Amino acid sequence: MDQFLQSYIALMCTAGALQVILAIIAFHNRHVFEGTKTFVWLSVFSAIYSFGHAIELTSTTIDGIMFWVIFQYLGMPFSAPATLILVLQYINLDKLVNKRTLPLFYLIPAISFLLIATNHLHYLFYKTVGIKYVMGAPLLDMTVGQWYVIHGSYTFGTLFIGAVLLIGYWIKTKSKNWKQVLTLIIGIISPITASFLYLMGLTPRGIDPVPIVMLFTSMLYLWAILSTHWLKVTPIAKENIFESMSDGVIVVDLLNKVVEFNSIAGELYTSLKEGFNLNELKGLDKKISSLVINRSSESITTETAIYLHNELKYFQVKISPVLKHGGEKVGNIIVFMDITERAKLQIQLKELAYKDGLTGIYNRSYFYKQAEKLTIASMESEKAVSFILFDIDHFKQINDNYGHAYGDEAIKHVVSIAKKALGDKGIVGRYGGEEFVLCLPGFSIEAGGIFANMLRSDIEKKALNIGLDTINITVSLGVTVLKNKEEFHTVDELIVRADRALYSAKNNGRNAVYIEEDNQIREYFFLAAR
Ligand code: GH3
Ligand code: MG
Ligand code: MG
Repeated sequence: MDQFLQSYIALMCTAGALQVILAIIAFHNRHVFEGTKTFVWLSVFSAIYSFGHAIELTSTTIDGIMFWVIFQYLGMPFSAPATLILVLQYINLDKLVNKRTLPLFYLIPAISFLLIATNHLHYLFYKTVGIKYVMGAPLLDMTVGQWYVIHGSYTFGTLFIGAVLLIGYWIKTKSKNWKQVLTLIIGIISPITASFLYLMGLTPRGIDPVPIVMLFTSMLYLWAILSTHWLKVTPIAKENIFESMSDGVIVVDLLNKVVEFNSIAGELYTSLKEGFNLNELKGLDKKISSLVINRSSESITTETAIYLHNELKYFQVKISPVLKHGGEKVGNIIVFMDITERAKLQIQLKELAYKDGLTGIYNRSYFYKQAEKLTIASMESEKAVSFILFDIDHFKQINDNYGHAYGDEAIKHVVSIAKKALGDKGIVGRYGGEEFVLCLPGFSIEAGGIFANMLRSDIEKKALNIGLDTINITVSLGVTVLKNKEEFHTVDELIVRADRALYSAKNNGRNAVYIEEDNQIREYFFLAAR
């Protein structure tokens, strides 16, 4: 046998054996990564092709040759879509490969196999079949049939798509996993090139170099598995973790250009794009971009609020440097953690400290604090301050007749009228159960009296509707005034004065306004008549 042919057959068998070893290694690692299973099949298909071709070369009869050619078609046409599937799984497009689509990938190779196995019946695959001698060995000499064109286009097409996808992925992911991706690219482009040269008649002595090239690519794959662990889970896991995190993550380089971000960050900032400068990011808190620009070498934490889906969301933002293995800083990672629940609770707690739970107006102690500030400020600018204390008349009856819940409604109703009348003229607080207090800076006793009487009349006129029924509500009010600084000691003292007037209003028939001025108490009516 020709020396060259002998080495060629030996190489082919080595390729087959190596592919079997690769299949075994991959099979052991089949749970590590989905693509490993595909790799087992790819290795098996390649091994069938290599062994089949080796035995074809040793066969002497046309039937024997034809048998081993058919045998090769159990592997060769299937290896191209298997490669494409492996690529899809590697670049995280594995959702395209599922139980429904998988048969479609292998449909044309399966038809090719059936057609070549039954070629003598229809000659759709090979139009004519004869024998040619290559390196002294008899080989199949055929002319291509109609299906052969489909088979060839499909094989080249799938490998070509795989190569394009990989190159696209390489460009997108830049330095990440570049060795692995490059290995795959070479592994995919080499057989395409080799087949092309073979079909153009440019290979030495007209031999089919594809199985040999596949040996070369198998070695690349083996190297890839053993040295760079590309079939290992880590890069995919890292990417998956990055994506599945419930926090938004943005990674920027030292020029504050966005290098990477996950889908949550994309939801928070819809204009976010790779290559975007952080300063130009619409909606990003200036505080955050300035902290990132400060290029601190330590992590910094801040907070921000983002209006999202018609709701204000609160985020804790952690900015940390991204360091290379040597410790050199290469960028920043910004993590947005949703703390809306906690923040809302804090706001509620803060509000509870100064707001009355039922009515939302100031509680007693906070009213005192605020009223003191307003009083001092008015005294500084030599303006009078009026205080009004008022109490709902016969409130116990409302509770008794309609129930406590409607009692609460009545309280809220009165407060809403008072708030509306007050506007920004002063402040109002809940002094007790159904007693309220107002502070009106700049209000003389006359102005205070007018205001109190207006409020009394508003409440009297505006009954509370409860279904078909209405509750008529009246209030009694006591008004006092602070005219000069020397007179002022405490807010409480002023409220005691207003309370004395209120007491008179209650004792004189209710639904009335009484005035306390210079230790004298009189009804508002008398004041107006004066
Ligand atoms: P007066 O005209 O003399 O003020 O008679 P009144 O019945 O209103 O008497 P008073 O002001 O002493 O009544 C206070 C009642 O208000 C007692 C209490 O049961 C009721 N009350 C206090 N706080 C609340 C509350 O938050 N909700 C309800 N529904 N009732 C309350
Ligand atoms: Mg009352
Ligand atoms: Mg009361």
